[in-house]
Amino acid sequence: MKKGVDMRYFYDSHCHMMNLSHPNLSAIIKRIYNDSIKPLLLKYSVYLKAALLLLLFVIPVVVITLLLTGHFVVIKWILYAVSLIAVILFVFVVVKFGDKKKREIEISKIKSNLLDKVKEKLANVMNLLAAMETDIGDCLIQMEEELRKKIPLNNVLVISGNGEKKEYDKIVLTPLIMDFGLKDSGKTNLIYKVRWKPIVAQVEDLCIGIRDYYLYRDKYITGHAEPLFQIIPFMGINTQNYYSEKDNTTGKSISVSLVQLLDKNFSEFKYDTSPQMRRKKIDAVNWRQFNGDIESIGSYYFLGIKVYPPLGFDPWPEDDIERAKVCYLYQYCIDHNIPITAHCSPGGFLVDDDFKNFSSPYKWEQVLDYTDEKNNKPFERLRLNLAHFGGADSKVWRKKIADMILKKDTVSSKYKYENLYTDISYQGVDKKSYDALKDLLDRYDSAERARLIERLIFGSDFMINLQDINSYSQYLDFFFKTNALTLEEKDMLCNKNAERFLFVG
Ligand SMILES: [Zn+2]
Repeated sequence: MKKGVDMRYFYDSHCHMMNLSHPNLSAIIKRIYNDSIKPLLLKYSVYLKAALLLLLFVIPVVVITLLLTGHFVVIKWILYAVSLIAVILFVFVVVKFGDKKKREIEISKIKSNLLDKVKEKLANVMNLLAAMETDIGDCLIQMEEELRKKIPLNNVLVISGNGEKKEYDKIVLTPLIMDFGLKDSGKTNLIYKVRWKPIVAQVEDLCIGIRDYYLYRDKYITGHAEPLFQIIPFMGINTQNYYSEKDNTTGKSISVSLVQLLDKNFSEFKYDTSPQMRRKKIDAVNWRQFNGDIESIGSYYFLGIKVYPPLGFDPWPEDDIERAKVCYLYQYCIDHNIPITAHCSPGGFLVDDDFKNFSSPYKWEQVLDYTDEKNNKPFERLRLNLAHFGGADSKVWRKKIADMILKKDTVSSKYKYENLYTDISYQGVDKKSYDALKDLLDRYDSAERARLIERLIFGSDFMINLQDINSYSQYLDFFFKTNALTLEEKDMLCNKNAERFLFVG
């Protein structure tokens, strides 16, 4: 068994491990409605509105105008045309559905198509619910079992292409905790609201789950003594959920609980002068001995910080007290080399329409470009991953993120934001997304393309992605097999870029 610097890791830098008590379920239901049902309704309502407009407004206005202006010949031709269309439509319906047998076949085709879609969606939702309902430790064990069954995994994970291959000794999962606590509950018409959702309980469940994966996996997985996964979570933080107090010595407002939380989990990061050093400390954590009390844990149990704007985290608030909190967080992350992953697509668990813009890359540009009173840009080097590459369907945000990655300093002509990244999580549920990604990259010249590919990180968004895919191995398989990326590029996304972003060797 290899150890230390000889190990090669496959990083899934964006996934989640949670149980049913963690998410804001009303937000999940809202998300399923917003992501799948609402667009469908909107699509049909657009057709319906257009048809109504045509029938009740456009046609009468045209006919009356023609009548008033005496264009009787035109009206005659319009009537001919309408009659002809009606006859063609009639013939089409008779041919297609006239015969009883044919009709039955057509109707059953439509029915089974619809049913298949509904069944598939339902199966996915049930799968997701089961993954969330079982214990987190067991879910991790099941993920390893499923991977070992589906993907050839002897001692190492292999990706091959063009007669060459890349090998990985372990898969690193960085489950991102989301702070579902809502200070103002978001806008909802419900009588009872999700008002408190202490993140402590979620942190505790996740830590126990990680411990139990290491402790109990060999009861289920035989013949492979070494765990396939190394799990290093990201702490979820919403600064709005931490109260501020006035500091009597400086007169400034300060959030003591936020300072304590960061110090407790990350203070030792300050001394890591290299990614290799951090890796060594992380490897030294013995999860098997975790006693179940999160008060007992310190630095190196968590690798980074996750912020989730759709739940109300504003990256750059106008309010002074809120601004002070985010500034403290960003400065702390820079001083301690802590990576931040921020949800950056218009979708997600949006609990309030006012939060829509919080996810925008334009918001983060304000953070990165902020100039302080000494004319410094303190947050330009923030180690930041704008997740989901702005969202697959959100061209403007995607383009903005690419522009930000490629932005150069006018004086030094070096790239401006040296620690800015983006991940492709969730999008791989559809294997065509990799072709779309290639199309986008190919639009840039070779230098820009090289810079962009160096800033992309692989992520799955498991278990959230189970809404649209049936297993973890399937998601990895699409990535392994796509021809849109070369083997070298795949290795960058899942290894080199991830390690550079995470500051771990
Ligand atoms: Zn996610």
